[in-house]
Amino acid sequence: MIQSVRVRLALWHTAVVAVLLLALAVGAYTFIAQMTARRLDQYLQETGAAFRIELVAQRYETRTDLEAAVEALTEFEFRDLNLGVVDTSGQVVAMNTAPGESQTTGDEVLQPFDPAPLGRAISRMHITGPEFVTVPDRRGGVRVALLPVEIEFHPYVIVVARPLFPQQKMLDNVRLVLLLVLPLALVLAALGGYLLSRRSLSPVIEMSEHASRIGSSTLHERLPVGDARDEYGQLATVINGLLSRLESAFEQQRRFMADASHELRTPIAILRGEADIALAVAERPPEEYREALAVVRAESRRLSRIVHDLFLLARADTGQQQLQLADFYLDELVADCARTARTLASRRGMTVTSSASCEAAVRGDEDLVRRLILNLLDNALKYGCEGGTVDITLGRDSGGYRVIVRDSGPGIPPAVAAHIFERFYRGDRSRARESTLTNHGNEEESHMVGAGLGLAIARWVAEAHGGSLVLAQSTECGSEFVFSLPDLPES
Ligand code: ADP
Repeated sequence: MIQSVRVRLALWHTAVVAVLLLALAVGAYTFIAQMTARRLDQYLQETGAAFRIELVAQRYETRTDLEAAVEALTEFEFRDLNLGVVDTSGQVVAMNTAPGESQTTGDEVLQPFDPAPLGRAISRMHITGPEFVTVPDRRGGVRVALLPVEIEFHPYVIVVARPLFPQQKMLDNVRLVLLLVLPLALVLAALGGYLLSRRSLSPVIEMSEHASRIGSSTLHERLPVGDARDEYGQLATVINGLLSRLESAFEQQRRFMADASHELRTPIAILRGEADIALAVAERPPEEYREALAVVRAESRRLSRIVHDLFLLARADTGQQQLQLADFYLDELVADCARTARTLASRRGMTVTSSASCEAAVRGDEDLVRRLILNLLDNALKYGCEGGTVDITLGRDSGGYRVIVRDSGPGIPPAVAAHIFERFYRGDRSRARESTLTNHGNEEESHMVGAGLGLAIARWVAEAHGGSLVLAQSTECGSEFVFSLPDLPES
């Protein structure tokens, strides 16, 4: 089995050309052979017809048929033809070349024609029109035209004969030329096919060599496109698109890892710092130990929350985070989340109002949807103004429900708004208060700044339910996030 496409293409090309050339050669040879045979017959017949006119004319000027035949033959002298008159019993009346003599046709020798065997055949034939026969001889045969003629009411047959060897020699030459030219043409076709396939496949080889050099550290490299309109250009463009997607996936993963390790480093450093300080002196007042332990507790919670969030996102990315689907009432969940938020809000002098315009029986992962709503409320409290308000409303939407979380905070600048759903993205941190509801809703246990994963997780939850989460509007008077949850088909 030949592995190289180039060689295979060249072989196929040669095979097709060989079949075509062979068919062409056989066709050309057959055509030439038939044409020369037809021309010869035509020549013999025309010569015989001319001789017949001369023979009939000579009879008016001579006394016997024999004299007329001899006279006509002296008038018709051909270097390459044997002419004669035979009576219907096969007896030769007159022949222009006596047996045993010879004439030359160019460098060929015209052999004397012996009409005796033909005479016997003629005696058995009933010739009424031109007839053609081939008489075999030692040199490839003689082609003979037989034409009926009547001289003074006596029937005779005119014999016009020509040896076949000049034609055969010409056909031999044609065959020889074809036999020499065919292999040469085949070799050239094979060579041409190979060079052509080599040339036309060289961009693929170039691409594969280039692609083999691209590794994870050189993912920014691209294949040369050449002419983008041809097939190779399109292939290179498709591969380049794939490389771009791979590169951005790699880059995303790399950034994710870097951000994650950065986020984890801070609480770990604080933990170590607190422990070092607590242990630096042998004896400390109990309040100091309590303070240090409080910091350790807060940071370890922050740490475990980040790890939990990262784990959730990693599972979501690989499609392993399955939704635990169950029927629940979204209006009840909204009211529940608002209640949770109210406790923390009251300490800030903020108010949380919730309203639902309808009962909302939905199917989804209740824990994840709770997480989504708490993330939004948490942000509204964290970034809202002291003494401000947070509204959460539930309404029916075409084909689903819509939860709107509105705050009266300072809003999100457009430059920040463009990134808020990105992982680890945090806006102006100085504005964030240290508070969160999202550590499983237990605000008592959580007093920490987010890691910038809240909205990324919330959007993933919305999309995993076939819905969406968008920042609908944000002005200096506040921001409005809209979560749409479509009616899930029963499953
Ligand atoms: P985190 O709150 O942990 O920083 P999020 O993903 O929840 O991360 O939010 C990303 C960023 O979006 C926040 O850092 C903040 O700048 C901005 N943001 C989110 N919600 C609000 C809001 N209601 N008002 C103002 N800014 C907001």
